[in-house]
Amino acid sequence: MNNCDVKYCGKDENGKPRYWCTTHKDVASDKDGNKLEECLCTYKEIYDNKVFMKKEDIKSIKLKYENVLDNLRPRIFINDKQENNALKIKESLLDFKDIAGLMIAKLNNIDLESSYCTYCGMPHTDDGLFAYTPHARHLCQYCGYFYNVDKPNIGNEFALFFDIPNIKEEDGIIEIEDKLALDYDAFNGILLINNKKGNTLKINNEEISVKDYLNKLFKDEY
Ligand SMILES: [Zn+2]
Ligand SMILES: [Zn+2]
Ligand SMILES: [Zn+2]
Repeated sequence: MNNCDVKYCGKDENGKPRYWCTTHKDVASDKDGNKLEECLCTYKEIYDNKVFMKKEDIKSIKLKYENVLDNLRPRIFINDKQENNALKIKESLLDFKDIAGLMIAKLNNIDLESSYCTYCGMPHTDDGLFAYTPHARHLCQYCGYFYNVDKPNIGNEFALFFDIPNIKEEDGIIEIEDKLALDYDAFNGILLINNKKGNTLKINNEEISVKDYLNKLFKDEY
């Protein structure tokens, strides 16, 4: 049993039908527009036991990547306790990719303003390239439809519940060899790289800003 709930959600620019799984918030059609019985989400298990939380009870949200050179799947810590399941806060259903989107947006000093889907009414969260690139055409993760807004923007549902600060960067060069661990503390706007603060990475003797490096690394995630 995969629990997928697959729905039709309009046609793509080439006129092929699109399908979306509302259980796992992911694509459920192949490249030819055929409906799939099971969606493409690779981490369905986190939706099996959703954790219902009140925003008042959330005092800290942290994200921990052991080594992004190896693996882009982080662990979430809520109130310093590891949480392996998707979070249900009010009507929103959120997981690690939404916190990763928050991290990238706040590293880019983005003022987050969630729009609401014109089909299903749900608020919007951006991740990957869209977490730092304002856009007017949004893909709703809840229903799979695209909808348009008047003015290009970037949204994240966590910003509807909490006042999330930008990430405060400090001057400093961090030399990277075979490990690049990230520790993001959303409520305090802190991002540590291998337990250090710094705004520049030195990798293979080349320097790159932390922001440019992470923007590129997370561009297609998730
Ligand atoms: Zn599914
Ligand atoms: Zn929608
Ligand atoms: Zn969007």
